Amino acid sequence: MNEPRDLLGDSLPLQGRLLTNESMVSHNSWRAGGKADRFYLPENLEDLCRFLKRLPEEEPLLWLGLGSNLLIRDGGIRGTVLCTLNRLKRLELHEGHVIRVEAGVPCAHVAKFSAEKGLVGAEFLAGIPGTMGGALAMNAGAFGGETWSKVLEVSTVDRRGILRQRTPEAFSVGYRSVKGPEGEWFVGADLQLAEGDVEASRTKIKGLLAQRAATQPTNLPSCGSVFRNPPGDHAARLIEACGLKGYRMGDAQVSEKHANFIVNLGAAKASDIEALMLHVKGTVREVHGVDLVPEVRIVGSATEGASA
Ligand SMILES: Cc1cc2nc3c(=O)[nH]c(=O)nc-3n(C[C@H](O)[C@H](O)[C@H](O)COP(=O)(O)OP(=O)(O)OC[C@H]3O[C@@H](n4cnc5c(N)ncnc54)[C@H](O)[C@@H]3O)c2cc1C
Repeated sequence: MNEPRDLLGDSLPLQGRLLTNESMVSHNSWRAGGKADRFYLPENLEDLCRFLKRLPEEEPLLWLGLGSNLLIRDGGIRGTVLCTLNRLKRLELHEGHVIRVEAGVPCAHVAKFSAEKGLVGAEFLAGIPGTMGGALAMNAGAFGGETWSKVLEVSTVDRRGILRQRTPEAFSVGYRSVKGPEGEWFVGADLQLAEGDVEASRTKIKGLLAQRAATQPTNLPSCGSVFRNPPGDHAARLIEACGLKGYRMGDAQVSEKHANFIVNLGAAKASDIEALMLHVKGTVREVHGVDLVPEVRIVGSATEGASA
């Protein structure tokens, strides 16, 4: 690990940790992929803003939460990865049943915290293994709940470290899709929940987690659903109907339990996973005439040293 240092060479101290040549394997839920040139763990929001202010304009920047929706190619990431997980970690109850949460808080903590405060509406977040930043970027959802249906306001930051408050009207939000002002990332949100019952929320969370465990391969590294559901259908149904459950390329396998999951059986490379995604997509197109669109985001270089 390197000591925090100033990327631009000015002398004000940064308080976070700057790592170089950081393997991304432990920073994504597929447990695959190459190295990042630079990897920054901010100490807190102020430190993150300071870091951004100093980041050279030409430095490529990738925001990372838990990496539970990312396929990071084997050649790794040129530029800087900015990791918010457990770094932007404030989680507070405010008046009017509002939860104020920073981007690096795991969704499961938000669900549990809200339930314990006697608030309902955030239970669906319990089984989403990502951060609130990732959930805002993806409009993550499950069991009928969607992140943006709870958003009262978000806080964003730009490349110069300038913070802004924005209401949902500034964003175009759809199924696993969020488009907002260019060059801004999420640093937090206010979620509007409703008064409820602690025990009822706890029971609901337990039920949702049990349902997940019964239907998803939660014991193996994956990125959840690989493809979006096409309108009026389910990607898993289409893939299963092609007989692809269990199909394997290297250590990447279409899950036997849930056909829209690709699991890493141990030593899958990102290239195995990507090749399997292409195979699944091609087969579904051939058999059903449906063009599946990936839900996971593919980032990085296929070969080391190449640009992203
Ligand atoms: C077992 C399993 C089950 C899953 N189940 C579900 C499910 O039920 N529903 C669902 O919607 N998803 C599900 N997912 C996918 C994933 O958990 C969600 O998409 C989650 O919201 C991703 O959050 P993350 O912090 O891991 O984001 P990352 O994977 O780190 O990033 C995802 C994208 O968001 C961007 N991003 C990250 N943080 C920020 C930020 N602060 N500001 C702006 N952009 C940012 C990244 O650059 C990247 O493009 C599942 C995944 C797994 C492994």
